[in-house]
Amino acid sequence: MTARVLVVDDVRANVKLLEAKLTAEYFETLTAMSGVQALEMVERYAPDIVLLDVMMPSMDGIEVCQRLKANPRSRHIPVIMVTALDQPEDRVRGLAAGADDFLTKPVDDTALFSRLRNLVRLKMLTDELMARAATSERMGFIDGSFAHVLDRPGEVLLVDDSGLLAGRISQGLAGHHRVTLVQAPQEAVNRAASGAFDLVMVNLDQREFDGLRLCSQLRSLTATRNLPILVVHGPDDGSRILRALDMGVNDYLTRPIDTNELLARVNTQVRRWRYTESLRRGLQRSMEMAITDELTGFFNRRYMETHLSTLIEKSLHRARPSSVLAIDIDYFKSINDTFGHDAGDMILRECAVRLRSAIRNLDLPCRVGGEEFIVILPDTPEAVARNIAERLRRSIGQTPFFIGEGRIPVAITVSIGVAGLNTPEDTPELLLKRADQALYEAKRSGRDRVMCSAA
Ligand code: GH3
Ligand code: MG
Ligand code: MG
Repeated sequence: MTARVLVVDDVRANVKLLEAKLTAEYFETLTAMSGVQALEMVERYAPDIVLLDVMMPSMDGIEVCQRLKANPRSRHIPVIMVTALDQPEDRVRGLAAGADDFLTKPVDDTALFSRLRNLVRLKMLTDELMARAATSERMGFIDGSFAHVLDRPGEVLLVDDSGLLAGRISQGLAGHHRVTLVQAPQEAVNRAASGAFDLVMVNLDQREFDGLRLCSQLRSLTATRNLPILVVHGPDDGSRILRALDMGVNDYLTRPIDTNELLARVNTQVRRWRYTESLRRGLQRSMEMAITDELTGFFNRRYMETHLSTLIEKSLHRARPSSVLAIDIDYFKSINDTFGHDAGDMILRECAVRLRSAIRNLDLPCRVGGEEFIVILPDTPEAVARNIAERLRRSIGQTPFFIGEGRIPVAITVSIGVAGLNTPEDTPELLLKRADQALYEAKRSGRDRVMCSAA
């Protein structure tokens, strides 16, 4: 993995040293020698990550970090603070400013590269989600303002059978996040996969099982692959932390736990998770909107056409029958003219509800025009499809629709054309055309009836 790294330090020798290390590992390197210059470089070159010296004259690293994290254009760029001292108070100041990780000088190569790769990997994921969300937003599918969900209390799953951490962690997070304690690894996996948690905290020093193995399990399961993990480890445990980071663990805390640092790190993880989850959910919604009709919730024409091709290929391949129904509401124009367009819309929605409740789950109802529906019936021969069509016709025609405040009963009927797949040369176009012709026959011979295609 390669990435563009901005190195910021007021001492030229430090900049040169880091630059040489990074270049040797094929990272693209940019440099800045003051806080102001760093902000300019970020604006101009959009690096993937910033290595930021804390002690600098005029604008120090803390302030640079604060400004980067306050700007929506640079907020998602990870920042690693490089400090001369390793004091909890310094770390807490850095975390409060939004820093993602810390390294102490002199910088150890293995620690540097494992942190870089870990944070860059996360950023690439977020970049991809942000790019797709931007497109969806331009298309009017999602609203990018979800700041309101970011600061709600998080649900933290703490996995620890040592009995040593729960008290301190619950206390440290009290009033900010809710902590649920579990002791057995299998229960931890199940709970984490339930979708109810924003963060999993794992003690690496468990009595009965290997905490790292649990982390690796969480990373390999689809349901928990992206869920943030924060591990707690003892002092002088550097090599296990490197393993954890390589495995995709998001952050770590050293015992004895400093409660300010604990809160700051949990806040960061929970906020970041909420942000990417909101993006992901927005995308999911926009994908659904791209294939469904808003008024009825049925699939739209585009989806129907694509799906019909796939289904016909499968049916022909396995020599299975399949059918389609073309349904059109009778005299709908006069309904609209008499009761108004809103009443017309209400009738369309109610028709959709009645149609859906009269078909199987695997049948595919689609709205393909104003008052025209296509229902795709997989694994259904034409003779059976005809009976289903009769049932649908009755589900609409037998009971009146009630409209407006006065609940005026209105009789609605539909005409239905049925066509089944019958030759190996059949195509979606031919099948739909036969269903349409049958529908036309049903209309011509008096409406409120079902006709089968002649072919
Ligand atoms: P037929 O029995 O021959 O099908 O007659 P019809 O009046 O139903 O057929 P036509 O195709 O002439 O008219 C369809 C009408 O459906 C036209 C329009 O007023 C109405 N319509 C189309 N889309 C919508 C919609 O989204 N909402 C509402 N309320 N009405 C719609
Ligand atoms: Mg009609
Ligand atoms: Mg019509």
